[in-house]
Amino acid sequence: VEKLIVLGSGSALPTTTRNPSAQLIKSNSYYYLIDCGEGTQLRLRDLKIPFNRITHIFISHLHGDHIYGLPGLISTFSLLGRTNDLKIFGPKGIKEFIQTAFKLSESYLAFPYQIIEFEDQYNDLHLIGETKHDTFQIFSLNHRIKCYGYLIKEKAKPRKLIKEALEEYNIPLAYRNVIKQGADFQASNGEIIPNKLLTLPPKSAISYAYCSDNRIKEEQLLFLKGSKYLYHEATFEHELLDIAKKTMHSTAYEAGILANKLNVNTLLIGHYSGRYTKVDFLLNEAKQNFKNTIAVKDKQVIEF
Ligand SMILES: [Zn+2]
Repeated sequence: VEKLIVLGSGSALPTTTRNPSAQLIKSNSYYYLIDCGEGTQLRLRDLKIPFNRITHIFISHLHGDHIYGLPGLISTFSLLGRTNDLKIFGPKGIKEFIQTAFKLSESYLAFPYQIIEFEDQYNDLHLIGETKHDTFQIFSLNHRIKCYGYLIKEKAKPRKLIKEALEEYNIPLAYRNVIKQGADFQASNGEIIPNKLLTLPPKSAISYAYCSDNRIKEEQLLFLKGSKYLYHEATFEHELLDIAKKTMHSTAYEAGILANKLNVNTLLIGHYSGRYTKVDFLLNEAKQNFKNTIAVKDKQVIEF
């Protein structure tokens, strides 16, 4: 995965500067969409994202600010003559939501799609799919209705060949692939050239954990330990902890504690309450507990 594109960083009430939740992960010229609040397709248009390059959609939960953009977006896919497959993942009910919208509007989708629903409680990472380059895992979050987080993780990359060493030891072309995978080379005279003389360690695999609406239960999320990027909602300032508890949300301060505990590389916060016009103080709150925090903004691009 190469970058994150923030399409919506707000929560329930859209504002003039913040759309409801939606994020895009770019991976090898394809895109994964996470949540699809109202206005998502306009943001995609604005940012000139080719619609047919979106191959997977991951929905966290069925609250409107995470799904109201979905029927419109999928309908546009169809109008644009999409032919390639689309996979939509989400909690049970997402299928009925989509199909009801199309049934009542007497429209239908002219491209192949699959809707994969979940209803189990996942207290650990659960593999739900993969591409050539990445794996997708789901886990349960603690919210008012069934809510899931997603972990998108690059598969381990092959080791990097040292061109000069390959020449020096006369390694035939046919062996290069197995050497990239970590094999030693045995020369025709029986001499063994250890892999470490021929390759360098691969670039570390990037992992992106998306935790939308939830009341933090840290002991539940320990399996995210060491993830490179953690996105976590920070709907409220810590002063409003009572409201956060009542609505099953988290504060920026708490998101910072979690990031620290999980020892991630970077924390991203978002899903800000519509009551805030500026979010600097939410950022500072999170930073009290975890320095490397970014308060995401709509249309922001974060290169991994
Ligand atoms: Zn919600």
